[in-house]
Amino acid sequence: MPEGKVSTNSEKKRSEARRDFIKALIALGLVTVISPQVIAELEKKPEGLTDDDWYEPFDITDDPKRQQQYEESAKLQLGYSLVIEENGRKLVANPLLPKKPITYMVKYEKDRFRLPPPGAKDLFARCIRCGLCASACASMGYHAIRLGDFKDGYVMLGVPIVDNQIEYPCTLCMECTKVCPTGALEEIPQREVKMGIALIDPDLCWAWNTGECYSCAKACPFGTEVFAFRFNEWGAHTRVLPDKCNGCGMCVQACPVVGSAIHVLPPEEYERRVKNFKNTGMSYEEYIKLIWKTEDSMYTDPMASLKLTWRVNVNVDYIVNKRGLIESKVKKSM
Ligand code: SF4
Ligand code: SF4
Ligand code: SF4
Repeated sequence: MPEGKVSTNSEKKRSEARRDFIKALIALGLVTVISPQVIAELEKKPEGLTDDDWYEPFDITDDPKRQQQYEESAKLQLGYSLVIEENGRKLVANPLLPKKPITYMVKYEKDRFRLPPPGAKDLFARCIRCGLCASACASMGYHAIRLGDFKDGYVMLGVPIVDNQIEYPCTLCMECTKVCPTGALEEIPQREVKMGIALIDPDLCWAWNTGECYSCAKACPFGTEVFAFRFNEWGAHTRVLPDKCNGCGMCVQACPVVGSAIHVLPPEEYERRVKNFKNTGMSYEEYIKLIWKTEDSMYTDPMASLKLTWRVNVNVDYIVNKRGLIESKVKKSM
């Protein structure tokens, strides 16, 4: 090979290496500058939403027949009407908290959060927005990872996000972590993954209101390890153990209630919601204990039995007739 040619080739390689080095410096600089912004962006709630947007009341303003049923029949049995007037609307009251309207978690589509993919470690400092994780996920046929686009804000551009668990939950195959070139997604044991925490709304969940449904626990990669059950005449009451759940979202997709009665939340949002569950002023634990306490006293207190009957009537009416239930998705017995 002529000498001039060798020198041109090595010059070209040096110049490419210089260019790559400069590009890497710029990328590193950008990532360092925007990392705190990205973290703040991912943690913040979607804009314009208030606490009330996470829950919807059972609004019967335009339904005189239901109003009459909840007003008159309930009053006859319980001694109080189950209709509350609020800002010109007629809302169904919570039979266990008759001064408060009953509310339900809104459909998952309105309650979506941008969760980090599995194994995320210093995601925003390490991720170079190469998109290899999203390609790996898509090539497995799972499509759980989406890359942030302009709608997410410029700081989120190219950042891998898991935010459509009702259609594309994460199967924990961990393929995305294997292709990540920088360790932004680390290959860790499935049990160590923490993308978020699942929370069940006991008023919306089929198992808290009629009887058997184990769809979420059956879909969960760790099954009954992650769930606690309490069985009685009123159902197979199912709870998620927050320390055991890794937020993969398989349960969200499996739930037969339209819009899902189980949502995965980022840890900060989970903490916020369980402290004042559905704006009742009660924690999640206190709310659940109120249901259990009423159930436990039904043989000694006739009012307790009536309250529970109305609780189930109202919730089943809402689940079946307002929200919708996909019966083919109900998995019975573990
Ligand atoms: S673990 Fe598998 S399904 Fe989950 S985000 Fe990664 S590639 Fe997708
Ligand atoms: S409870 Fe749901 S989100 Fe949590 S690990 Fe099980 S399937 Fe995944
Ligand atoms: S799948 Fe849905 S309805 Fe069934 S037990 Fe789980 S949260 Fe309840």
